[in-house]
Parts: sequence; structure tokens; C-alpha cells
Amino acid sequence: MDNSVRKKLTQSLKRVVIKIGSSVISHREPGKSSLVLGLNPERVRHYSKQIKKIVDTGCEVVLVSSGAIMAGRERLGLTRNHLTIPEKQACAASGQSHLMHAYEKKFEKQGLKVAQILLSSADLGNRKRYLNAKHTIEALLKHKVIPIINENDSVTVDEIKIGDNDTLSATVACLVDAQLLIILSDVDGLYSRDPSQKSRKKDEAPPELIHQVNKVTKEVEKLSGKSNNLLTVGGMVTKVMAAKKTMSFGIPTLLLSGLDDRAMEKALNGDVVGTLFWPENEKIRNRKHWIAHTLKPAGIITIDAGAKKALVERGKSLLPAGVVSIKGNFEFGNSVTVVDEASSEVARGLINYNTSDLEKIKGMKTSEVRKLFGDNFYEEVIHRDDMVVFY
Ligand code: GLU
Repeated sequence: MDNSVRKKLTQSLKRVVIKIGSSVISHREPGKSSLVLGLNPERVRHYSKQIKKIVDTGCEVVLVSSGAIMAGRERLGLTRNHLTIPEKQACAASGQSHLMHAYEKKFEKQGLKVAQILLSSADLGNRKRYLNAKHTIEALLKHKVIPIINENDSVTVDEIKIGDNDTLSATVACLVDAQLLIILSDVDGLYSRDPSQKSRKKDEAPPELIHQVNKVTKEVEKLSGKSNNLLTVGGMVTKVMAAKKTMSFGIPTLLLSGLDDRAMEKALNGDVVGTLFWPENEKIRNRKHWIAHTLKPAGIITIDAGAKKALVERGKSLLPAGVVSIKGNFEFGNSVTVVDEASSEVARGLINYNTSDLEKIKGMKTSEVRKLFGDNFYEEVIHRDDMVVFY
């Protein structure tokens, strides 16, 4: 298998975000792979050594670690399947300190300092707080401290949660402009078919690990288990969506088994392990960075819930139909901020209309815009390629 892309990626790695899933730092009941019994400090020790090696190559590491609820369940003795929301939040609060204590202890033995950052979607949706988080992480890295990030589970309820740390780690990778996101979980990558399902038809080929994905197409999304098929591999949907998000930012994502102790080392050596989501267009990265961080927005566009969903969950462009109101005085090509109806920043992008034209067409369907402007118009208010989504 050609490993030139892997070699190219790993040769000069300067900043990486590593997501550690609950399943790879937990005890398991022997023989029952899915039953998580609580935090396993030995696994944290293992990662402290792995991460020390990466840091020693001169690469900065940001960790996104799950495991608070898992660790808290054990501490509070709440091992039954269904927990109420306050119970889960209590587990997260108790487990988070337990988790950080393990990281502190094990990383210190390797001479590594760590710091905790808890984020919520409100932090990431608000431009000021988003930048604050970014500045804090940059300052920690400058002082050779490894930020360990988790969602602030004990104060966020389900409706406003980021929800899973795959998504959070993708957002963090974009936030810190990482060169690579590594997601460590109990699966060793994306398969051509769910490996846990026995072969259905007699002649069906065994599932194969897909080593590289250059574009998250509908077919790839289907492999991750969307559309309720048989291919769901524990939480693969959020992993593929996370990869899609980083790729749209020009950042590759590598899915690796965290249960294979040598997988990360091999991967960082350029060996072909796991699944690499490789963005073909690396140029996007600089451009998106420029849109997100350099340009000063000339206006604010408020969008409705449907448009927000299209932008955040479906990777779409912004169309006139989703625009609710407009503030500011902008021209074609200016940068604008896109907010939801609660004034949370959803995206930034380069606008295809000036203020007065957008006032005329806000809320309109494409057919209505065509009637107004004839054939010479932009279907998108902001094209996806000219937009950075912050969620
Ligand atoms: N934030 C959750 C925890 O620490 C985990 C979420 C996830 O694993 O995706 O327990």
C-alpha cells in the first residue's frame, strides 16, 4: 500500500489534536467488550508515554478526552443503564475531577504539565468566547502545557449540548488550526461493511478496512451507519461527520484504534493503519483561516433554524430563503457574520450580495429571486467554499 501521503503528513507535524474516547481509557469486564466499568489509570499512563514521544519530536499536542461520565458512574455507583439528566451531570462533575487527577499524575511522571478546559456549545458559538478559548489554548501551548479539553457536561442540558467529543475534537482542531486530528476509539477505522455483522450473503466479501477517504461522499456517509442500515460501527457517524468538518477546513483526520497500543506510534511513523480522511484541497485551509480570523466582518446576517441546520449539519451554502434580517453596510465580497435567532455566531463568510440587494431577496425562494433579477444572480448568499462554520 502506497504510504506517500502518510509520510508527507507525519514528517513535519507541528500541532496535532488527539481525541481519546471513553472506551480506550476504561476498564472492561473480561470477555464483554462493551461493558465499561470505570476509569483505568493504566490506560492513561500508556497515553502519557505515547504523548511524551510526540511532544519530544517538537509537535504540540492538544487532547480532547472523554471519560468524565464513565469515571463518575463508577465513583457514584451509578452503573445502571438509564440515568436521569441530573444523574449524568453529577457523574460528569465527579468523574471530570477524577479523570483530570489521573491525567495530572500520569503525565507529571513523564515531565508533562496538563491543564483542563471545559467548553460548551455556547462558548464555541459566541465569537468572543471562541477567540478567548483559542487564546487560552495558544498561551498554554506556548508554556509547554498540554490542554485537556472536554465538554462542560455538568452544566449543559441535552438540547444545547455539542453532544459528543468527536464533534468537539473537530471543532477544536479547526479552532487551533491543527495539522491533524487523531480520533482514538475502540474501532480501528471505517470499514466497507460493519465488521461486527456476520456475512449475510454466501458470496459476500469480508468487510475491508478503508485506508483512505479523500472526500466524504453520500456513499461514505452511508458506510458510517446513517440511514439506519446494518453498517453502524459504534459511533462511526459522528467520527465521519467530524472528519468531514475538519476536511472542509483543509485538516486531515485519522481514525485509529486506541485499543491497539502501537497504532498511534505506527501511524505517526507514516505506516498505513486506521482510516485517513485526507482533504484533497489543502489550499482551502489558508483561505478559511483568513475568512475566520483575519477579515473584519462588515455586517451581521440573522438566519432561521432551518438554515442553521443546513449549514451546521448538512454542510450546505446559505440561501436567501434562510435569511431573517440584516445589519450593517456591506458590498459584494465583504466578510459578514452569520448568527442564529439567539444571536449566537454560526458562521462567517464572503457575501455575494450588497446590503440593499439582500434586503430585497431575504426570505425568498430561488425561483422568486430569479423572477426579480433574471438569470444573472447568485443562488447562494454565501457559498459553502467561502464560509467557515463554527459549530
Ligand atoms: N463528554 C463526555 C464525557 O466526558 C463524553 C462524550 C463522548 O464520549 O463523546 O463523559
